[in-house]
Amino acid sequence: MDITHLIDEAKNGLQDTFGLEATHIAAAPGRVNLIGEHIDYCDGFVLPFALEQNIIIAAKANGTSTVRIASSQGSDPVEIDVSGEIPEAEPKWANYPRGVMQYFREQTSCTLPGFDAYITSNVPSGGGLSSSAAFELATATLLEGLTGIKLDTKTKALLCQKAEHNYAHCPCGIMDQFASAFGEKDRLVMIDCQSGEPTLVPFENPDLTVIVANTCVAHELSDGGYASRRKATEDGLQTIGKSSWRQVSMADVDAAKEQMGDVVYQRSRHVVGEIQRTMGAAKALEANDFDTLGSLMYASHASLRDDFEVSCEELDIMVEIAQSLGKDGGVIGSRMTGGGFGGSTVTLCESSKANSIVAALTNQYTERTGITPEIFLSRPSQGARLL
Ligand code: ADP
Ligand code: MG
Repeated sequence: MDITHLIDEAKNGLQDTFGLEATHIAAAPGRVNLIGEHIDYCDGFVLPFALEQNIIIAAKANGTSTVRIASSQGSDPVEIDVSGEIPEAEPKWANYPRGVMQYFREQTSCTLPGFDAYITSNVPSGGGLSSSAAFELATATLLEGLTGIKLDTKTKALLCQKAEHNYAHCPCGIMDQFASAFGEKDRLVMIDCQSGEPTLVPFENPDLTVIVANTCVAHELSDGGYASRRKATEDGLQTIGKSSWRQVSMADVDAAKEQMGDVVYQRSRHVVGEIQRTMGAAKALEANDFDTLGSLMYASHASLRDDFEVSCEELDIMVEIAQSLGKDGGVIGSRMTGGGFGGSTVTLCESSKANSIVAALTNQYTERTGITPEIFLSRPSQGARLL
């Protein structure tokens, strides 16, 4: 569904559910990451961009201290008392706005206004494209509109990350919220996760296209796989005895191998390798060196599969199919994107062959898994904003 329809659906939802005409509409995109996976919480570099797919919230203040939210994907409207502390509660999906409202108030010391809101989305949920960050940023941006208090973008992204940590129990790094907040048309958001600074990198070459392929195997990032990976990287760094992964070389990791044990060693090898690959990929992209860029994407996938162990059979199959189409088929590189355990792959390809690649991915993936994937082309787009 394109964005105009999505906005109409949100306005109509507000009208049908609450009988209200929207006064504020916020949009925030999901993201896809070209390279740099599971290192945003390791002081690494990551290279995501904001998708054209968004979460939209249409809303109107209601003059009370109750927020009522309905989602086209939820069930009944959820009521949230915003006069005091906002605790976690059921249903779980409403914890994203609960957390953001709590931290928005803490950040700004404002009195939260009651409002009624309706949410629509074309960011697949649980598809590794960060619908959760989109939901958080859309909520925070809506609150800016309703209160008239404009946060600086970094502050806004960080309060959304805090909501993800404490209300969704996913100890994520800063990539997802930064990509959704800072994204711009035709720009990648290169994030130095040590300094916490994003740099916009041009991505304008019309000959390049990004294919996002959702395996339609949903992940559950709060069930421990993500947290245990993060913990292993913390243990690895401690064993090596440095204060940041940015000071660690592969030789340091190898030297600490015995002390770490196999699992922490593998996780550490991924971190150091992925930081190097991401820096290499940024250079290769700037130099239009697509052979190098593609090799780095495949190497990233192999490392996530074998060393970090966050891939799954379906992600591996999707990448294998892309890789088998090869350069002749117009594929530059492919890898899993996002937290893993399901979700999506990202494939960089020649624009002229994008449609035939999509067809091949769709057919062969369906044949091999029995699952119909959701595959689309994407270009870097605008981050969170009021419409
Ligand atoms: P991802 O961020 O990769 O999409 P997460 O598991 O982090 O996956 O976030 C998905 C969760 O976000 C869903 O389970 C749901 O709680 C919430 N969510 C996403 N989109 C919507 C929506 N349109 N309406 C209500 N909740 C949503
Ligand atoms: Mg998420």
